[in-house]
Amino acid sequence: MRCVTRFAPSPTGLLHLGHAFAACRAHDYATARGGRFLLRIEDIDRGRCRPEFEAAIFEDMAWLGLDYEQPVRRQSDHLAYYGGFLDRLEADGLLYPCFCTRKDVERELIDLLGAPHHGPDGLIYPGTCRDLSIAEREAQISAGKPFALRLNMAAALARTGPLTYIESSDEVVARPERFGDVVLARKEVRTSYHLSVTVDDALQGMTDVVRGEDLRDATDIHRLLQALLGLPSPIYHHHGLIMGPDGKRLAKRDKSETLQALRARGVTAGEVRHRLG
Ligand code: GLU
Repeated sequence: MRCVTRFAPSPTGLLHLGHAFAACRAHDYATARGGRFLLRIEDIDRGRCRPEFEAAIFEDMAWLGLDYEQPVRRQSDHLAYYGGFLDRLEADGLLYPCFCTRKDVERELIDLLGAPHHGPDGLIYPGTCRDLSIAEREAQISAGKPFALRLNMAAALARTGPLTYIESSDEVVARPERFGDVVLARKEVRTSYHLSVTVDDALQGMTDVVRGEDLRDATDIHRLLQALLGLPSPIYHHHGLIMGPDGKRLAKRDKSETLQALRARGVTAGEVRHRLG
């Protein structure tokens, strides 16, 4: 099978060296195997994404000399597509509306456990809205209260049984239960990172997902969604992260190391590649 990889940045800031590393790794993985390399714009977070950051992604890719296939998929153009998968999970009885705010979740966790409880991806939801009656749900919805859709993790796992995925050539046990009832549709947009990344990787025929170590834990959720939705599971390759001078991983707020800033200082793409090894 011909290898297909992708670079899937979110235009919520300027790309930095860490992104260049991820893009080069995914690109080089495909081209070394005569495969295809795609670029996907992950812009479902309308409040944080900006057109100028998206424009900068295209400039950065051209500067790095990374060719990708057209067309580029922009997730915000496909919200109805993700909605179709939510409908399927909902019809299977695996989703429930959650009306809680972050503050509600924190308060509830403190009441229950004495302290907020964190998983790999932040607070673990205590399940407050899972057992609301149909009448209670309908009352809140008709009162216009915004709601997210959460996955009932226990019900989902009861359906799939134990799961594994392939990391390079190793079989890894997925433990999505560590995350609790994750949000699959946010209050403001009817999808989430986990849902859209999983269905897009399947739709675009990804054979290999090459991405940073920071997304390794999330793979457990992606594997679960693949199993629930009957989607294929690509081979994952999580790579190390580029650290800044302070020893912490680079973030979009580290303005000095953005690719745009490096370009402005006269650094060449060849020098960037050299620095990234
Ligand atoms: N859009 C995600 C990010 O910018 C990456 C998604 C992925 O590679 O799975 O962090």
